[in-house]
Amino acid sequence: MRADLHTHTLYSFDGDPTATVNAMCESAIAKGLTHLAITDHCDINGEIEGIYPVLDKDAVFDAVCAAKKTYARRLTVLFGIELGQATQYPTEARALLERYPYDIVLGSLHNLANTPDFYYMSVQDADFPAPQLAEMSDGEIAALFERSLQETSALLDFEGIHVLPHLTYLHRYVRQVGRKLNFTPHLPQIAALFEKMIRQGVALELNTSSLVADGTGLPMPTAELLALYRQCGGKLISVGSDAHVPHRIAQSFDAAAALLTACGFTALSVPTAGGILTLPINS
Ligand SMILES: [Zn+2]
Ligand SMILES: [Zn+2]
Repeated sequence: MRADLHTHTLYSFDGDPTATVNAMCESAIAKGLTHLAITDHCDINGEIEGIYPVLDKDAVFDAVCAAKKTYARRLTVLFGIELGQATQYPTEARALLERYPYDIVLGSLHNLANTPDFYYMSVQDADFPAPQLAEMSDGEIAALFERSLQETSALLDFEGIHVLPHLTYLHRYVRQVGRKLNFTPHLPQIAALFEKMIRQGVALELNTSSLVADGTGLPMPTAELLALYRQCGGKLISVGSDAHVPHRIAQSFDAAAALLTACGFTALSVPTAGGILTLPINS
């Protein structure tokens, strides 16, 4: 696959200092990609409530515009954003999408309403105290996942989202603390969510940030859920490494291509502001 449609630069609060826009483009070219989306974090609730540093949107816009020109003949650079929790501050989120000409908008859910980021539920951080997943019952973890599906469904009503990244974001942290998330009881709710995505024309993302090159590790979502999406009639499918450092661009993409092929997908098919981007999976 020659497109990585979810990456972060040093403008993201958690981006690596070496992850300049140009360094990300150079790495994408070195790995044979034809398309790269720069999708820095804007967790709208985190910015408004002072939890995270505010993304310098003008700076990243200027850097991506410059990179589009610099690499025009070698790489298609998409100006994107990973917009977190849009439905928690819809007016501000809407204003952001109207202010910048985003090519691609990822609509994320990193934390539930009035609940810390799932990441902080997996680590002890004095600055961000959070209930710990390791100490929760299976039922409490299942309830968190159910709430995440409900809030993700509400997110789909927010107009302007092209891609739903890491649908099973909670799964990564549940797994990291040695616990399990059983999807079986949630499959009807997940299928209903997929049907809504299909109606709204929003793509599902295969996020490879926790996938290992040999195919082990954790695809987000899992093969079981990718196959369910396909069975529901899902065709819009994206892929992203979620790299925060240049060398992680296109991480485990061969394994991801094999997974998508096994689930019945033949092409990446991703809505963008400029129309649907269709690219072969096996290239
Ligand atoms: Zn994310
Ligand atoms: Zn991300």
